[in-house]
Amino acid sequence: MSIAQTVSCLDGYDPDALRVDKAREAIRSCLSPMTHSEKISVRDALGRVLAEDIVPPINVPAHDNSAMDGYAVRFSDLEKSASLKEIGTALAGKPFPGKLGAGECVRIMTGAVMPDGADTIVIQEIVKKDGDRITIPQRQKKAQNVRYAGEDLAKGQAVLRPGQLLRPAELGLIASLGIGEVKVKRKLRVAFFATGDELASIGAPLKEGEVYDSNRYTLHGMLSRLGVELIDMGVVRDAPDALEQAFRQASERADAVITTGGVSVGEADFVRQLMSRLGEVLFWKIAMRPGRPMAFGKIGDAFLFGLPGNPVAVMVTFYQFVRDALLFMSGREAAEMPLLKAAAAETLRKVPGRTEYQRGILFKEGGAWKVRTTGQQGSGVLRSMSEANCFIVLEHERGAVKSGEQVDVQLFEGLA
Ligand code: AMP
Ligand code: MG
Repeated sequence: MSIAQTVSCLDGYDPDALRVDKAREAIRSCLSPMTHSEKISVRDALGRVLAEDIVPPINVPAHDNSAMDGYAVRFSDLEKSASLKEIGTALAGKPFPGKLGAGECVRIMTGAVMPDGADTIVIQEIVKKDGDRITIPQRQKKAQNVRYAGEDLAKGQAVLRPGQLLRPAELGLIASLGIGEVKVKRKLRVAFFATGDELASIGAPLKEGEVYDSNRYTLHGMLSRLGVELIDMGVVRDAPDALEQAFRQASERADAVITTGGVSVGEADFVRQLMSRLGEVLFWKIAMRPGRPMAFGKIGDAFLFGLPGNPVAVMVTFYQFVRDALLFMSGREAAEMPLLKAAAAETLRKVPGRTEYQRGILFKEGGAWKVRTTGQQGSGVLRSMSEANCFIVLEHERGAVKSGEQVDVQLFEGLA
């Protein structure tokens, strides 16, 4: 099915006034998760997406063992007498070779295997020692301070599933099973370029009317944090031949192509003609601010995300649409960004009928979290993104916000 057919089936799909949630849904409905995988060492797997079940071949811990430094005892002995005979030592990695008889105990260290016959650990701090006689106070509990085999991970029961992001904890967990290699999804390949005749590259002096291209740098940063493979294709002029070549090359090399600039009214017509020759691309006007115009489509097997040119709009559309799409394509299980509530510390201008992503500063005042804007909210003011630590997300229907009202915020920390 074509992209146009797929998205036109969605309720309330209107390309000229597309709600943010609809745009996200439309993009999702066209994508599918990565199926290619590769085997790599656990050490290299940080930030990768698991492509197999991890099933423990052993119990973790492998043996019942002590959770504390102290004495391994038979609980039934403690009911008869408080005094036990110390008959040996169990260390981590050096089990006590014998068996505990009646009235006996073994000195034991954290992690040491429970000696045969023992069922309870008494911590060392509370006992009295006199030669090999150990006196134990009353009111111990049976089985206290014992860690049981398989308590952490049980042999044969899958502990990690495909789609799981591998974080430091997962690397350790996999290593604790004695597994040295894992199957992960192939990294998503993402090509990107900036378009615009006014763009100068770093190193060249600025001519009149030019601006330095900053979008490729924010994209580089945002994409790097997603753990995808980056293909930076530089700046491309607003010329049909140059654009056509760039789109062709990008779509041959990548799973996804991201461009900035050239999708706003005026420029769109010429890009539109080009696109209809190369693939299938939809041009949307999204009911949001910043970031109204956006293109989404497919060239060859690659998905295209045509973002606006304004630097803040690039970041907002990336975080609100592209991030989710790329994570989904990478095979990651759902990873929606949480929205938190905070009190607006000032009135916020907003008109109903579009979702706004104002750049905010979340701060603590008198024990309560409050949020204010960074001031100037123009979509070209990249400084607002740098000063902000969150987006203030003002939903579609909402009008102006009074000081003290609750608003949703999306923290930048964690957006990676
Ligand atoms: P456009 O969407 O191409 O009309 O661009 C909108 C605005 O964003 C214009 O002011 C452009 O100069 C600016 N712009 C476009 N691309 C970039 C870029 N790569 N870096 C910085 N500013 C840009
Ligand atoms: Mg442009």
